[in-house]
Amino acid sequence: MGRVAIVTGGTRGIGAAIAKALKAEGHTVAATYGGNDEAAKAFTDETGIPTYKWDTGDYDACKAGIEKVGSEHGPVEILINNAGITRDAPFHKMTPDQWNQVIGTNLTGVFNMTHNVWNGMRDRGFGRIVTISSINGQKGQFAQANYAAAKAGDIGFTKSLAQEGAKKGITVNVVAPGYINTDMMSTIPDKVMESIVGGIPVGRLGEPEEIARCVSFLCGDDAGFITGSTISANGGQYMT
Ligand code: NDP
Repeated sequence: MGRVAIVTGGTRGIGAAIAKALKAEGHTVAATYGGNDEAAKAFTDETGIPTYKWDTGDYDACKAGIEKVGSEHGPVEILINNAGITRDAPFHKMTPDQWNQVIGTNLTGVFNMTHNVWNGMRDRGFGRIVTISSINGQKGQFAQANYAAAKAGDIGFTKSLAQEGAKKGITVNVVAPGYINTDMMSTIPDKVMESIVGGIPVGRLGEPEEIARCVSFLCGDDAGFITGSTISANGGQYMT
């Protein structure tokens, strides 16, 4: 059954693959982004999926954006919290700004989006919420105290909401990718990348489509018994 879905950060990388996969399942998809208009335009030209620009770290912008999507396409029944950033630094050099930006997008952004779809999902008795966390939220990572804290927070947030949504037909889950071949990885120096790939048992980075398949499975009407779960998709790098 086709439903209305929002994918945050849906214009590039993992989010773009998720948006395409949900569209292929027959859903009506809205992809959001933060500022890269060129990438958003190229994405719409390629896929026909409409894009919307707002900062997920801004509560009022999320509220207005979700209302706009709702008025154009219908009530949001599937929310994919995918937008994320990194601002890496070893802790002794990490600035409050680096901390706040990452928490603001990767954790508060998840609250902002989810809070603005939650009551509608409760009223209608159906919802699918999937948040993209990270292997580094599960195991911690050098120079990513901000990112790991936010991504671990996403998991606790999800387990709590799963309990609150269970009787209302809302499932809330996490997909925790390992290292995936996207722009986010392009800032990693070659030497570091070699050692990362060396630590992945399958011997390669993951592809965005591999994460998208997990997400689209969790969004199906027949995935209603799975809630509060974290699906790790990391090539065997970290087994929970
Ligand atoms: P990309 O950097 O390729 O794309 C990020 C997307 O998020 C873009 O569409 C970007 O918009 C959007 N975005 C960023 N900040 C905001 C914001 N404040 N408001 C709205 N949109 C925003 O990221 P990936 O595809 O690599 O990562 C997607 C998710 O997966 C992230 O949450 C990331 O933490 C997580 N992840 C990624 C891994 C990887 O190896 N790549 C591993 C584990 C987790 P714009 O184009 O305008 O900048």
